[in-house]
Amino acid sequence: MATVGFIGVGNMGGPMAINLVRAGHQVKVYDLSPQLMEPVVAAGAAAAASPEEAVAGAEFVVSMLPSGPIVEDLYIHGARLLEAISKTSLVIDCSTIAPDNAVNLATAARQRGIATLDAPVSGGVAGAQAGTLTFIVGGALPDFERARPLLLGMGKNVFHAGDHGAGQIAKICNNMLLAVHMIGTAEALQLGVDNGLDPEVLSNIMLQSSGRNWSLELYNPYPGVMESVPASKGYEGGFQVNLMNKDLGLALEAGLKSQSATPMGNLAKSLYVQHGRNGWGKKDFSSIQKWFEKQEK
Ligand code: NAD
Repeated sequence: MATVGFIGVGNMGGPMAINLVRAGHQVKVYDLSPQLMEPVVAAGAAAAASPEEAVAGAEFVVSMLPSGPIVEDLYIHGARLLEAISKTSLVIDCSTIAPDNAVNLATAARQRGIATLDAPVSGGVAGAQAGTLTFIVGGALPDFERARPLLLGMGKNVFHAGDHGAGQIAKICNNMLLAVHMIGTAEALQLGVDNGLDPEVLSNIMLQSSGRNWSLELYNPYPGVMESVPASKGYEGGFQVNLMNKDLGLALEAGLKSQSATPMGNLAKSLYVQHGRNGWGKKDFSSIQKWFEKQEK
């Protein structure tokens, strides 16, 4: 079993760290909000008073932070955490950030002889709690193999996407497609309802037809069609519109850099930005269904 320094125990990092404790690892956690460390400490982790204390002597350093600038600030520029990390540690950043941020971290760490992986996740808070996340990893293959048993303590699937930054690229490609098929699903459901169809009947028909997709199968955006998805709980929980907007922004930035055509991603971003501005920013992204709903005057 390994020693792990875990930084950032919010909605995702908290349950991930708890699963590492349950898998038998010795975990020391740090978060800017001390109260967020309490449930992880109650599960058996140690609380650190600083990020330096969390990573001291750890075989693995795992971070789950909100954004790329925060990741770079913590490790490289502001707190300079790399200076406190042992050369034998492996740093695994699970945050969803720009591929460039991941490459910058890898480069700065390599200069100090420290290995890193970008390992963003898919599966949301429910997947983090259940330990069924998918890890999409970028970095050197031997480091990936070293991390695999640890990652399997928090997830079910672990993929090696390529070199540093490749995990982030694969993650943002996936989330751009997710946004597009969620919007398309909501649009088709509303068209059916507006023309007299029952959304459940229509969903069942499309599920057995060529319109079948993940949003329809597991995350139906129309309220009441599927039990226990956010659509049937006032769009609470799940994956926030604001976070989807962040990921779409990362996808469009990557597309700009590679001069890729991303017409569907651009449209999805515009729709989600406006949806957030309409007051849905903190609700689940399947609430885009409301964008299509007829407003009675
Ligand atoms: P969150 O805001 O709940 O958690 C982030 C935590 O990081 C907070 O507790 C915050 O206090 C802490 N933090 C920020 N700066 C810090 C610092 N310098 N030192 C220590 N702690 C610091 O966010 P989340 O929902 O857990 O998401 C984390 C990452 O996971 C994001 O990059 C997000 O895009 C990604 N993600 C989220 C989901 C989801 O459904 N929530 C799904 C997949 C990926």
